[in-house]
Amino acid sequence: TPALEVRDLRKIYDNGTEALKGVSLSVAPGDFFALLGPNGAGKSTLIGIVSSLVNASSGEVRIFGVDRLAQREDAMRLIGLVPQELNFNMFEKPFDVLVNYAGFYGIPRAQALVRAEEELKRAQLWPKAFTMGRTLSGGMKRRLMIARALMTRPRLLILDEPTAGVDIEIRRGMWDLLSDINAAGTTVILTTHYLEEAESLCRNLAIIDHGRIVEHGPMKQVLAKL
Ligand code: ADP
Ligand code: ADP
Repeated sequence: TPALEVRDLRKIYDNGTEALKGVSLSVAPGDFFALLGPNGAGKSTLIGIVSSLVNASSGEVRIFGVDRLAQREDAMRLIGLVPQELNFNMFEKPFDVLVNYAGFYGIPRAQALVRAEEELKRAQLWPKAFTMGRTLSGGMKRRLMIARALMTRPRLLILDEPTAGVDIEIRRGMWDLLSDINAAGTTVILTTHYLEEAESLCRNLAIIDHGRIVEHGPMKQVLAKL
């Protein structure tokens, strides 16, 4: 079963914008997958539909075989989402950010405490676990967003332009973390408009433009066509 299967997905916003014009793609379990495309191509719309933030106009989405519409709760449990904006409470300590998030998703407190330590260590944030979130560097804040999404132990981690507007050093730190996460078995999908980011991280990719998939396949094969 694919980690993600999207079939003939269409989205027309209320104002008439056709953001997705029949998108189909498939992501294998364990893959590190890039959805690459220019601004306005439809990346956020696609990610939004997959993670149930946006309703599709038509089409099918399955997460590890689970229908996103018919079994929404089950599908959502398989997904961890890292939004573009830093939306954690800056006046909380990273440890509390993670524990509170886990609590929101019904994870027992004892388990949440253990996981929070694990995830903060993996994200190289343990030394900052008990300092105010707003004092973290830009890179640390980004990694905290990733650590938080992992608290529910998702099988599929989705990141919407995780490195948009961040400098190369911060990007490298995030790339290392994402590579670790993928190596540990989590399927990772990220959207980006940086080809070099997709190239250095991902095994497979799809290129989306004006709401259509224009290329889809292994990195080398797609790059050879560009
Ligand atoms: P990307 O993430 O690749 O930049 P988006 O999915 O954000 O692309 O946008 C795809 C198209 O849909 C763009 O033309 C954008 O202006 C339009 N769009 C996005 N969100 C909305 C919305 N809420 N209402 C109307 N149009 C939207
Ligand atoms: P609703 O309140 O509409 O039932 P949910 O409780 O399923 O929605 O989700 C609330 C928000 O959290 C949504 O934006 C959803 O996309 C997001 N979300 C749900 N599950 C996860 C998860 N495992 N990791 C990250 N974000 C999630």
